[in-house]
Amino acid sequence: MDSRKKAVIIGAGTGRIATAAFLAKEGFDVEVYEKNPNPGGRCGQMTQNGYRFDLGATILLMPSIYREVFSALGMDMDKELETSSLEPVYKIFF
Ligand SMILES: Cc1cc2nc3c(=O)[nH]c(=O)nc-3n(C[C@H](O)[C@H](O)[C@H](O)COP(=O)(O)OP(=O)(O)OC[C@H]3O[C@@H](n4cnc5c(N)ncnc54)[C@H](O)[C@@H]3O)c2cc1C
Repeated sequence: MDSRKKAVIIGAGTGRIATAAFLAKEGFDVEVYEKNPNPGGRCGQMTQNGYRFDLGATILLMPSIYREVFSALGMDMDKELETSSLEPVYKIFF
């Protein structure tokens, strides 16, 4: 019998995925339930007719926070994710 404590996470957005990863690292038996077909939540995306749409976040505004999470989990974000700088980040027209 599995003697590990069990944790159930409702939703697979970035916050809850990070929580699930931390709990798993602490030895919990983690289950994640997501109501949508794909994980990501407001950082997710959908593809229709060959076009990709961001469902919320479009840019990584504070990479240092994500880098800290990866680092705390024993991973190097820059090795795990391919990112690129945008210049300019965006233009606003009135
Ligand atoms: C328009 C917009 C633009 C943004 N732009 C940026 C940006 O440029 N840069 C940036 O860093 N951040 C941005 N953000 C913020 C970022 O997207 C969120 O902070 C982040 O995605 C929140 O993650 P989360 O895991 O807390 O929640 P969510 O991403 O909301 O995830 C919650 C998940 O739980 C699931 N769920 C909810 N209820 C249930 C249930 N009962 N059963 C099963 N599953 C359930 C949902 O389907 C969802 O997948 C933006 C957000 C929005 C809305």
